[in-house]
Amino acid sequence: MVRIKMFDVAPYEIDAIKNWSADHQVEVDYESNPLTMDNIEQVKGYDGLSLSHNGPFNPEIYSKLESYGIKQIAQRSAGFDMYDLEEAKAHNLIITTVPSYSPSSIAEYAVTGALYFVRQLPLIKQRMENHNFVWDAPLISRPVKDLTVAIIGVGRIGSISAQLFSNFGCKVVGYDIEDKPELENIVEFKDSLEEAIAQADIVSLHVPGNKETYHMFNQATFNQLKDGVIFVNCARGMVVETQALLDALNSGKVAGAVIDTYENEAQYFRRDFSNREVQDETLLELIERNDVLASPHIAFFTHEPVKNLAEGGLNSTMEVLETGDAQTRVN
Ligand code: NAD
Repeated sequence: MVRIKMFDVAPYEIDAIKNWSADHQVEVDYESNPLTMDNIEQVKGYDGLSLSHNGPFNPEIYSKLESYGIKQIAQRSAGFDMYDLEEAKAHNLIITTVPSYSPSSIAEYAVTGALYFVRQLPLIKQRMENHNFVWDAPLISRPVKDLTVAIIGVGRIGSISAQLFSNFGCKVVGYDIEDKPELENIVEFKDSLEEAIAQADIVSLHVPGNKETYHMFNQATFNQLKDGVIFVNCARGMVVETQALLDALNSGKVAGAVIDTYENEAQYFRRDFSNREVQDETLLELIERNDVLASPHIAFFTHEPVKNLAEGGLNSTMEVLETGDAQTRVN
């Protein structure tokens, strides 16, 4: 019987794993901890490996896995920037991902977060808590239907976000390195990032995290925005230079920011720090500001993707074991 070892397994994944294991007649053992050089011996004797790594990946792990006869790592997320793809390849390890596990969940979150600021909900909540029931100018919001939204990266998630904003009556402009003629009925494509963001009231990022998109939003990019923009990053933390975002919030370029991913999130997100000290001053500032809705990379978190991620990781593992390759391979 084929044997698969999974790391980083959360309690909410276990039902889907057990059902998959029974349906496929494959032994699956799981572990809540991440794979490290300290526990790597646990992989010995298994045929396949699935992780949900969210931090820097120790490069010594690749050679150790190769020495155990492991042929693949099935990452249970869409992002794979934590892996050194070349190094993995040099040790004959195929890295796979689950590229699409519920794009609509992330798009819904991006739109919800943007509307939270457009319709002044943080201020309304604060006023109610202070028993101030006055109607005055700071509470007046712009009608959503009158806004222009720039979608940066109009792929699986970006295109659904575009559709949702379009359903509200917004004008949607987009920037993507690929032509997307099939989306031209809802998105007015621009030739550059600068053109796409120039007139935007809402900017929503949906590009992958890679060398080209690293700090795509920096001081210079934020300076090109209109004043009072609502900024949404449900993509990857590395796409935004966080200090530049904080400066843009302080200067009024950005009026509200939805930050579901943060460039230094690995140490904190998915862990409980309620009884431990968070030492990252920038993260603390993001959490504490009323003009930022910070969240722990949770935009995807609905029932559908939780199941799809567990099954996707296991399916990719089997595909590599059975065929030597996988459709979801990234290296
Ligand atoms: P996708 O590959 O379907 O779409 C990405 C789009 O960005 C593509 O159309 C691509 O052509 C475009 N693109 C790539 N590089 C670009 C560049 N330099 N400039 C402009 N456009 C560029 O990916 P997706 O599934 O829609 O995922 C989008 C993002 O969402 C990724 O960063 C992914 O990691 C992230 N994500 C976040 C969560 C969450 O919970 N917050 C969950 C899943 C995915």
